[in-house]
Amino acid sequence: MTRPWDVIGIGATSVDYVYRLPVRPEADGPHSKIRISSHTVSCGGQMATALAACAALGLRAKFAGVLGSDDNGTRVQEALVARGVDVADAIVHHGPNQFAVILVDERTGERMVLWSRDDTIALGADELPPELLPSARVVHVDDVDQQAAIQVATLARAAGAVVTSDIDRVTDRTDELVAAVSIPILAEHVPSALTGEAEVGRALRTLHARHGTMMCVTLGRSGAMIVDRGRVHYAPAFAVEAVDTTGAGDVFRGAFIYGLLRGDDPPALLRFANAAAAVSCTRRGAMNGVPSLADVKRMLTN
Ligand code: ADP
Repeated sequence: MTRPWDVIGIGATSVDYVYRLPVRPEADGPHSKIRISSHTVSCGGQMATALAACAALGLRAKFAGVLGSDDNGTRVQEALVARGVDVADAIVHHGPNQFAVILVDERTGERMVLWSRDDTIALGADELPPELLPSARVVHVDDVDQQAAIQVATLARAAGAVVTSDIDRVTDRTDELVAAVSIPILAEHVPSALTGEAEVGRALRTLHARHGTMMCVTLGRSGAMIVDRGRVHYAPAFAVEAVDTTGAGDVFRGAFIYGLLRGDDPPALLRFANAAAAVSCTRRGAMNGVPSLADVKRMLTN
C-alpha cells in the first residue's frame, strides 16, 4: 500500500512566551524577584516542533490534531505551514489554543515550562477522517490528551503504521499509552516512575520486559538510551553551548522518526537524534531551533 505521508502527528501545539532570566527563579530570597533579560513570542508545543523537525529533514509531515480558534491557534497554523507541515486535516475547536510561559536560565539554557491547555481543544478520536491514519508510515502522538492518544495509537497500529510517542508525564493511564504505541520515547523520569527502579537503564529494561517493544528515553545533557530486543544502547549528548533547550526533546523525536524511516539501527538512531537535538539547543525557540539535514550532518562530523 502506498502511504502518502511519512509522518502524521496528533498532539500539542503552543505559542511560547519565552522569558530569558539571568538566574533560576526561587520562591524566597534574592531570586524571588528577577529582572527579565529579554523576551520573545515563538511557536512550539511538542507535536508542532517534532513535525517541523520532520519536515526540515525532508519528510512529508502532516499535523492532524486540534488547534484553538484564537490568535494563538492562527499563529501556530501559520508557523506549521511556513515550515512545510501540511495542516489540511487540522481540526479547529472553538476555544483558546494551548500556550506556555517558558523561563530560560540564560547561563545554562535550561528551562521551566508553565503551560495552559483548555479542555475545549481535546480531540475525539472519531473526529479523524477514517482514511487518515492508513495514509501514514509513522503516526506520532503525545500524552496531553491520553484518551485520544491511546485511541489514535490503537487505530494507527491496526492500520499498519508504526506509532511513536512523546511521553513526559506519569498518570494512571501512562502504562496503557506505553502499551498502545509501537515505540515509546520517554522523558528521563518516566521509566523510574513507571517501574519503581531508581536507575534509568534498569527501569528501561524492566519496562521493556513488561511491554516487549523498542523504547527510548531522552536524558537531557546526558544524551539518550534505547532498549531493543533485550539490549540497552546508550549514546552521550553532543557537547554544545546550549542557549535554549526548549524543543530539544521534540527535535530529538522528529529526528528519531527520520532515522527510523531510513532504517537506522539503534546506535545510529541515537547518534542522529542526539545530533539534531544538540543543534536545536544552540538556537532560541522551539520551532525556530529546528535543524536542516545539512545542520545535523555538520554536527555529526564535528
Ligand atoms: P525531553 O525531556 O523534552 O524529552 P531532554 O531534555 O531529555 O528532552 O532533551 C532531549 C535531547 O536533547 C537529549 O536526549 C539530548 O540529545 C539533547 N540535549 C538536551 N540538553 C542538551 C544539552 N545541554 N547539550 C546537548 N544536547 C542536549
